[in-house]
Amino acid sequence: MGATQAGAAGGGQTRRAVLIGGAVLAGAGLAHEALTRLRGRPSVAEKPRVPGAVDFPGARWIPASPANYRHANRPADYAVDRVVVHVTQGGYGGTVEVFQDPAHQAAAHYVVRADGGVTQMVRELDVAFHTGNRSWNERSVGVEHVGFVDRASSFTDAMYAASARLTATVCRRYGIPVDREHVVGHAEVPGTDHTDPGRYWDWDRYLKLTRRAHG
Ligand SMILES: [Zn+2]
Repeated sequence: MGATQAGAAGGGQTRRAVLIGGAVLAGAGLAHEALTRLRGRPSVAEKPRVPGAVDFPGARWIPASPANYRHANRPADYAVDRVVVHVTQGGYGGTVEVFQDPAHQAAAHYVVRADGGVTQMVRELDVAFHTGNRSWNERSVGVEHVGFVDRASSFTDAMYAASARLTATVCRRYGIPVDREHVVGHAEVPGTDHTDPGRYWDWDRYLKLTRRAHG
């Protein structure tokens, strides 16, 4: 999906491009936002947003700064086909704080703690800035795990169990296969220089638990 699609309102365009052009003209003030969002897919009615509502039952809702994600309407505008596993390299409080800081320019959808507690900070509807790669942000749900890549003890039984349940529900919601092609580490995202989740993250165990929770 390239920039040419959204910029094709000039002539010789497809029916979809005509519709995109019309939508942009109809909402001149929203032109930039519309171009950004409609690049993915034709617009459909936005899902209502209930204040405080979470996508994962039992998660605690603490909203990230809107500067750290982009308002979207997934999966209508962008197909969701990946889960990206991260490690925070810091504590829970510090992670929540930076995701709420507009200067941070990054946040993930979820933060999973060592005790199995799950906090949601960005709605799955929206594009969280968590991979450093625009198209991968658009296609994925980001799950942070509180801990350090070089500390094996960060990754507890409760954390694996909770994260596996979370990833299983995400995979079910979007029809994402539970395998290593679709459930990936941040280190595997094209262009990244990040190393998380690192060598102590037990992928075999995580996928086994996720498949079991997926049913
Ligand atoms: Zn990461």
